[in-house]
Amino acid sequence: MHIIKTPQELMAFREPLWPEGKILSFVPTMGALHEGHLSLVRAAQAQSDICLPYIFLNPKQFSENEDLDQYPETLETDLKALEALGIEHIYSPDRQVIYPHNFQTIVKVSEISKPLEGEHRPHFFDGVTTIVCKMLLQCLPDIAMFGEKDYQQFRVIERMVIDLNIPVKVQSAPTVRDENGLALSSRNQYLSKDQYEIAIHLNKILKQFSLNDIDESEAIEQLKNTGFDKVDYCTARNSETFLSEEPNRVFVAAWVGQTRLIDNMALAA
Ligand code: AMP
Repeated sequence: MHIIKTPQELMAFREPLWPEGKILSFVPTMGALHEGHLSLVRAAQAQSDICLPYIFLNPKQFSENEDLDQYPETLETDLKALEALGIEHIYSPDRQVIYPHNFQTIVKVSEISKPLEGEHRPHFFDGVTTIVCKMLLQCLPDIAMFGEKDYQQFRVIERMVIDLNIPVKVQSAPTVRDENGLALSSRNQYLSKDQYEIAIHLNKILKQFSLNDIDESEAIEQLKNTGFDKVDYCTARNSETFLSEEPNRVFVAAWVGQTRLIDNMALAA
């Protein structure tokens, strides 16, 4: 496995692919890879000649009281999992390369990043759009692949790419779940056995809400009754504006102990 460490090395890798007519796909991740990430890599591979995952634990999308210090880092296992998929190169730059001394630039998508995740994690989307913009400009891939697990993030990135005329096709792939329907997440590792038993209700309650079997307040009530400590939101929104008008998708963010879980799915017509 060849680990590309700098934007210069990345361009040296990328440039020859243009005259060769090779399609390059890019899969941004923060590492601690699970089957959800790997499904994005497979989807990207299916549409490109070369797939370049990137692994970068981005401090700018965590606030000071969030879990950056605890966030799992498992580079060796990640590399093995990627190698098993036939990946030969990844981009994994050091923090000081990406955020040099006196760094002060922010890329901001102003409107659709305000509700839901934006309301509860105000620093989050600026951190995501700044890093993803930097990575896309450094790599200039043909395709960039994102998970529907983080649906608002996918839409925010799609908006940024349109607004800034970045020449990349932004694509999404469906959420991968475990045998109990819990959306895979690097943060699931924080859950104790008892907390996991609570966490698996998240998708079940959201499913009932998406089928209109229960309404928003019943869904929130059920989340609390099954043991969630706090519900940031559980709501039906429009999947382009993230406002309540013309809802077509349901979104949830809830806490089990210190672990924050999110999920979303289409709303039945
Ligand atoms: P992260 O490493 O959590 O920043 O995630 C990197 C990418 O993987 C993002 O595009 C996520 O939406 C995607 N992803 C995370 N979990 C899943 C999942 N369970 N299914 C599909 N994609 C996922």
